[in-house]
This record gives sequence, structure tokens and C-alpha cells, in this order.
Amino acid sequence: MDWFWWVLILFWTGGFAWVADTVRTALRNRHERKLELMDVEKQERIAVEASHQTPEPLCGCTHHLAKHDKQGRCHERVEVATAWDENKKPLRYEAGQCNCQQYVGPQPLSQVYAEDLTDRI
Ligand SMILES: [Zn+2]
Ligand SMILES: [Zn+2]
Repeated sequence: MDWFWWVLILFWTGGFAWVADTVRTALRNRHERKLELMDVEKQERIAVEASHQTPEPLCGCTHHLAKHDKQGRCHERVEVATAWDENKKPLRYEAGQCNCQQYVGPQPLSQVYAEDLTDRI
């Protein structure tokens, strides 16, 4: 029966603390792994949602293409600076029209049409 008491004493002193610590660490690691997994899933969902959105047909002047007429002139109202301070910072604005003509030369890439992804999940 002697060995039993030795084991018990060992357990009471350092052994028990060590076992408890190991179990706690294992549980915490599992929890962290689960959190990481959830994070990856969330990022994947955001990426999938972003890929499903059709791109906005924006002109180079940052206005929607619907704001342009057939000649390509932009009809969006914009603020035009009329006075500047010594640091060239605009002081006053006046309502004006965006003077964008839209790009009328050859288009190197289609700006409006983006093909749907074929390998959808
Ligand atoms: Zn424009
Ligand atoms: Zn514009």
C-alpha cells in the first residue's frame, strides 16, 4: 500500500497542479482554434458576397454613367472652387456642372461590363 500514498502525495503537491494546468491549456488552445476557424469562415463569406456584387458603372469623374448624356457630357452638379487662400486651399465654392466629357477614344478594357464568375459555389 506504500506506493499508493506516494502517488497521492505527488498528486496533491505538484502533480495535480500540473494536470489542471495541462487541461486548462488544452481547452484554451481548442477555443482559440475555434475562434480562428470562425474568423476564416467570416472572411470567406465577405469575399463571396463581394464577388456577387455587380460593379457600379462609374465614370472616371467618379459619377455614375447614368449621369452622362449620349455625347458623354456629365450632368452631375459639382462644387467648383472660386476662391483660394495663400495655401491654395479652396475658400469658396460655387455650384457648377461637372465638365467631364467621358473618355471617347478606344477603350483598352471594358469599363462597364464585367462577366459573371462561372465557378460559383
Ligand atoms: Zn464622367
Ligand atoms: Zn462627372
